[in-house]
Amino acid sequence: MRTQTGFDAGAVSARYASVREAIDRATRDAERAPNSVQLVAVSKLFPGDAIVPVLELGQRAFGENYVQEAKTKWPPLREQWPDVELHMIGPLQSNKARDAVALFDVIETVDRESLARELAKEIQRAGRSPRLFVQVNTGEEPQKGGATPADSDDLIKICRQKYHLTIEGLMCVPPAEQPPSPHFALLCKIAERNGIRCLSMGMSADFEQAIMLGATHVRVGSAIFGLRN
Ligand SMILES: *Cc1c(COP(=O)(O)O)cnc(C)c1O
Repeated sequence: MRTQTGFDAGAVSARYASVREAIDRATRDAERAPNSVQLVAVSKLFPGDAIVPVLELGQRAFGENYVQEAKTKWPPLREQWPDVELHMIGPLQSNKARDAVALFDVIETVDRESLARELAKEIQRAGRSPRLFVQVNTGEEPQKGGATPADSDDLIKICRQKYHLTIEGLMCVPPAEQPPSPHFALLCKIAERNGIRCLSMGMSADFEQAIMLGATHVRVGSAIFGLRN
């Protein structure tokens, strides 16, 4: 069945089911507890009616990259599915911190002190505390967000001690042209030495490897929704 904007809802549902199966299989293969890996369905650039079939199948955690897009897309969906959990996974400008705190349940892209400061201020003001992950630029790519591996311990400490923020997880996006596993292993090491429990790593192409290396959250977009325009 096609939705209003031409999405093949049946295809989205089928792809969603096979991603869920692959996650369960990888979790078993890694001898990890069932349900220890949360699927964050990345719905950026897809309209609400592509997302509805996945909501109807029970998916509740979604990732978005752009504050403005999420702000127009999600409020109507949330009226119908109030238990949706929205993850901010894109670069966050400090001047969008207020909107992000109001809208998101998890902000995965805390990557510099100035942003931590703004988030702390807005959390105080709003009395609403999204869960926070620090993004690590494991490949040290200049065009990518995230603290360098060398700076990440300091940033985590600053978040905790100076701004009294709880850092629940780490997130990374490995370089596209490299094998991802060393990057996942590095993220895991940084988390361990900082006493951090959650690891958001793995996307459509590599979520199984990420699960093998301890991912607690995998962010999967195109394998569910299809190719983005
Ligand atoms: C778009 C995006 C994803 C999803 O990527 P797919 O390859 O479509 O699964 C995951 N994480 C981040 C940070 C993204 O920007």
